[in-house]
Amino acid sequence: MLQLKEVKESIIAGSAIQTFDFFIQWHLTERCNLRCRHCYQARKRPPEMTAGDVMSEIDGAARMFEAWESEQDIRVAPSIHFTGGEPLLYRGFWDVVRHARLSGCRVAVMTNGCLVTDEDAGRFRDLGVFDIQVSLEGPPALHDSIRGEGSFRAALKGTERLARAANRVSANVTLSRLNAPFIDETVRIARDAGFSSIGFSRLVPCGSGGAMIESVLSPGEVRDAYGKALSLSGPDFAVVSGDPLAGTLRNDAPPADCGLTLSGCSAGFSGVTVASDGAVMPCRRIGISVGNLKRKSLRDIWATSRTLWRLRDRESYKGQCGRCSFWPSCRGCRAVAYAWSRARGRADLFADDPQCWHIGG
Ligand code: SF4
Ligand code: SF4
Repeated sequence: MLQLKEVKESIIAGSAIQTFDFFIQWHLTERCNLRCRHCYQARKRPPEMTAGDVMSEIDGAARMFEAWESEQDIRVAPSIHFTGGEPLLYRGFWDVVRHARLSGCRVAVMTNGCLVTDEDAGRFRDLGVFDIQVSLEGPPALHDSIRGEGSFRAALKGTERLARAANRVSANVTLSRLNAPFIDETVRIARDAGFSSIGFSRLVPCGSGGAMIESVLSPGEVRDAYGKALSLSGPDFAVVSGDPLAGTLRNDAPPADCGLTLSGCSAGFSGVTVASDGAVMPCRRIGISVGNLKRKSLRDIWATSRTLWRLRDRESYKGQCGRCSFWPSCRGCRAVAYAWSRARGRADLFADDPQCWHIGG
């Protein structure tokens, strides 16, 4: 079995990283009140863990973080991002949020915003949830065409309630050919609606979103869309993207050509997904299970999964990605690479990111 020392040396880059920001994206339920066109779900209804089971797995994760700190001489800054489906539909939602906070984790929540009441808004604040992310697709008619009739109005109402209760609310936009032409307007809407910031990510053509493959942006369109969005960021309202490809726009000198992951795609590196049935995945949008909490601890899965180790190893990456000087801080979006190659009949988690504008240029 691989030792945690190797985990640190391979994924935490030795002394280069003093504080290890690690997140768990926890899908409490697959149930949802909306039916978004680009959803990565395939409308299946897997079983859900009980709130008691989730809390006991949170305790296990907290022990893993403590062990990393004491055995590896680093500081771990853990966070849990609860989502769904729609997480507010999960029975025991507030119990698990409270438990995660008491276990020492920062907590964020990703929601469609439509079900948030004034009482919920106060609870989020009182529990110290540091960020509530509400999905926004663009102007009202476009948002409704993607997420369902009336969803724009309901999401903004929920946002207003959250902001009024002094919560930090961020918008997240899933970029495709449908909404890329409306970036200016979308940022303006988010600012006026009381969001604290807005983030942009890419459509991954998997699950129901597989039917939207024709709406996936070309490499040049992705570069232009992120360039446009990030140019609108200002001191009073941040426009951000966690997409590794957006990170390459900063034009930082590429890091030394080392074999260690330093930043970029979090899959196998700085985050992990837990699905509603306990399945552990490198990223929800990749959708490949690397173990299940019902049979193995998160600590064991993180340290021993062959897929997670391959994600940390430059040698696994095919084509341009493996040879690229941005690899330590990028690696592309593995979910897009996987979904794209699968749609072409050759599923490959380590294929080149088809939306990378650095390839072939
Ligand atoms: S080739 Fe891969 S690692 Fe390099 S910039 Fe493109 S997606 Fe990132
Ligand atoms: S696979 Fe894509 S969506 Fe998932 S963590 Fe990596 S960059 Fe983000």
